Amino acid sequence: MDDTDTVPHFDLDLTQPDPIPASGIARAVELMESGRLFRYGETAPGTLGDAAQLEQRFAQMLGRKYAIAVNSCGAALFLALRSSGVRAGDQVLVNGYTLAPVPGAIDHAGATPVLVEVTENCTIDTTDLERRASESGAKALLLSHMRGHVSNMDEVVRVCNRYGITLIEDCAHTLGASWDGRASGTFGTAACFSLQTFKHINAGEGGIIVTDDDELAVRAILNSGSYMLYGQHAARPSEEAFEPLRGKVPNYSLRLSATAAAVALPQLDLLEERGKRMNASYQLLETLLKDVEGLRIMQRDPREGYIGSSFQFCLPEMEAADIGNFLATCLEHGLGIKWFGQERMEGFTSRPSQWEYVDERMLLSQTEALLSTLCDMRIPPAMTEHHCHQAAHIITHAIQSVRSATG
Ligand SMILES: *Cc1c(COP(=O)(O)O)cnc(C)c1O
Repeated sequence: MDDTDTVPHFDLDLTQPDPIPASGIARAVELMESGRLFRYGETAPGTLGDAAQLEQRFAQMLGRKYAIAVNSCGAALFLALRSSGVRAGDQVLVNGYTLAPVPGAIDHAGATPVLVEVTENCTIDTTDLERRASESGAKALLLSHMRGHVSNMDEVVRVCNRYGITLIEDCAHTLGASWDGRASGTFGTAACFSLQTFKHINAGEGGIIVTDDDELAVRAILNSGSYMLYGQHAARPSEEAFEPLRGKVPNYSLRLSATAAAVALPQLDLLEERGKRMNASYQLLETLLKDVEGLRIMQRDPREGYIGSSFQFCLPEMEAADIGNFLATCLEHGLGIKWFGQERMEGFTSRPSQWEYVDERMLLSQTEALLSTLCDMRIPPAMTEHHCHQAAHIITHAIQSVRSATG
């Protein structure tokens, strides 16, 4: 059907971030000229530093009492686990479809990851969650809303409450997302966000923990490396809450710099518009690809309010070699698609069977089967309708050419 000559060459670099807003650049330059790049002591008394302002706005935006900025989301996840009481040797539940820093944060806390299956639509399998929660005696669930897929939070919260499990949400891709009208990042004891370049706010590197829990917030602030300068935080518990923990909480030095906070701050005002742009692209790709034979797109629950910063699909009928050919054909047309089923870890993508430090008895057959044909395309805010049509055309052509070659 498809004439190869008419297949376009994709003319967007999917790794292209949006530029930093001019006000963020100006503020970062101002900080550099003053030399005051450290978050503590960079301001005149009575004024708030950039990191403290970022924390304050983040807490307000999510309707949570406290926010603590650190140097990555991986560090935020580690701190959230630690500060909520997870200790060496504890078991921590985590869905098997996630990014490597998530089981890495559990290992960093000295705990053992207990992997949980995901459904064919990339959300946590709550039946398997309940089984593993009851069998493992785990203290915490680190729920990763991987690639922006929001799980059934009613069920997740029910299971956590039933087994006395602390819920920590990994919201690296769900800033602005929701479940049944309630913001992602407000369901658990704490939630962690990323300011890394490929997430919804780009400070290069950075992470933020939000929580309503006084003790967790005090511990996270002290653990993050505030010294006794925690008075310079705005979204923090009162002085009395710090007093009993002075000297009891180690300093792990995981601070965010003032410069990174300055770059991140003006991007908060752009989130809504960026989210709309990415969702328009996501929904157009969905429409253009939903009837392509041999391709399965993710079904999303109507209660899920997602931010479509990436697009996932499965190629369920293809063998590994066919998927290799599919990816090569896309790349010939300039379209870089990622695949979770590669033999070796490459780039950002990996799957549980490749995390060799995780006990192999915990490996997941259902999740491995899903990931063996799961493909992924980034949706940068700069993507337009034109690019969506190009991408859908290239993907459709590549599937058809693999299917016709394999008969
Ligand atoms: C990027 C990401 C992280 C880690 O964020 P960093 O800021 O790079 O440490 C954690 N979880 C998910 C799902 C991510 O996509």
